[in-house]
Amino acid sequence: MSTIAAISTPRALGGISVIRISGEEALAVADKIFTPISAKEKPSQMAGYTCAYGKVSDGNNDIDEAVLTVFRAPRSYTGEDVAEISCHGGIFVTEQVLRLALKNGAVPAEAGEFTKRAFLNGKINLTQAEAVMDTISAGGRAELRCAAALRDGALFRRIKSVSDSIVTLLGSLAAWVDYPEDDIPAVDETEIEKVLTATIAELGEMLKGYDNGRIIREGIDTAIVGKPNVGKSTLMNLLSGCERSIVTEIAGTTRDIVEESVRLGDVVLCLSDTAGIRDTEDVVENQGVKLAKKKLETAQLVLAVFDTGEALTDEDISLAESCTGKLSLAILNKSDLEQRFDFEKISHCFGASVSISAKSGGLGELEKVLGKLLKTEEFSPEAGVLTNERQRRCAERAKVSFEQALDALHCGATLDAVTIIIDDGENALLELTGERASEAVVDEVFSHFCVGK
Ligand code: GDP
Repeated sequence: MSTIAAISTPRALGGISVIRISGEEALAVADKIFTPISAKEKPSQMAGYTCAYGKVSDGNNDIDEAVLTVFRAPRSYTGEDVAEISCHGGIFVTEQVLRLALKNGAVPAEAGEFTKRAFLNGKINLTQAEAVMDTISAGGRAELRCAAALRDGALFRRIKSVSDSIVTLLGSLAAWVDYPEDDIPAVDETEIEKVLTATIAELGEMLKGYDNGRIIREGIDTAIVGKPNVGKSTLMNLLSGCERSIVTEIAGTTRDIVEESVRLGDVVLCLSDTAGIRDTEDVVENQGVKLAKKKLETAQLVLAVFDTGEALTDEDISLAESCTGKLSLAILNKSDLEQRFDFEKISHCFGASVSISAKSGGLGELEKVLGKLLKTEEFSPEAGVLTNERQRRCAERAKVSFEQALDALHCGATLDAVTIIIDDGENALLELTGERASEAVVDEVFSHFCVGK
């Protein structure tokens, strides 16, 4: 395999930049471009996990002062010999160092190639490789927790334990199917049924957890709806901590949909502050009302705001009714005013409710109620959760196969036929972990990586 090199830090000004070189020739390349000052040995003579201060030069001219770190196979990120040069973090100087490495025997690394080599060299499995990218792109605590659990192999272990029981089953089926005349006892159908049922249930649990996890990792598409002047913009501003929407006492000022993502505890709300829902003659505002109604239909979560300083109206009832069956939270705003609102009449339309004064601030209670509604406390990535669409599709495919195998068994299909269907399911599980993933699948996973990772 060729020796690859790339800049592993962002292409931007910074304190330091790191040029990573990996492969059989990595230390030979380092010998040619790096002269240690702090040590006598050449890079190729240095022990693994040691570093040296020295100069990067092209033989005639010094390019930079730098620190070289040596990793020896297999104790490196890629499992190969690795040299990492930490130089000054200028774009030009960094590119010069990389160019020098390329001139002296290395070839440019492709996107994600260092991690791909770690995978191909058996340092990590495919889900752990995905976790590397998740760690880099994590924008909050919950995402980072998910990525750490994935990197730690939580999902791999959970899938592996499912897969192991299927492999054992396939083993006894194969023995019986291949040597029916021998004395191998016939596989008990109730045993096959037991294993398949347990596997289907476990995969079902994981698939159910996927949507919940996605809310936590990627945020939830949230619509703030309500009549004009109930305090939607005030709430949005309170959530985002800045003057994002126009707050005014004139009804119908928010005409287009203002969108923003805000973090509330463990959850990211992808908010839309919509025009007040009401009938109106105003053409532009009417457009906004239409958008608001559409938003209410498509949003995953609805925050329905009510002005509790006013009596309940037919419009409130109609809005509440349109929230029925949706994941919805009633925000009983203006709790600082004398209370005239009869929430009891519409409370059955909502998953939960919270009383607040958006004008005075304080989101603690809202955060708590929302956490309960979205069940974020129950979310435990450490138990092993599916974290992306690729994994979800594999788990789904496996579950469908095992369900079909169970059906086939109930319909009296031959054990050979049942075995073939179970085998399909097992293949999907092995593709999930990467133990039996095609080159195309592996390439697809790494195509999302950046160069240098
Ligand atoms: P929207 O039309 O639903 O977006 O409502 P706004 O956010 O523009 O608020 C309408 C009016 O209600 C403004 O004058 C706000 O200052 C006021 N308001 C918002 N929240 C509260 C609250 O909690 N208490 C009181 N007393 N007034 C509020």
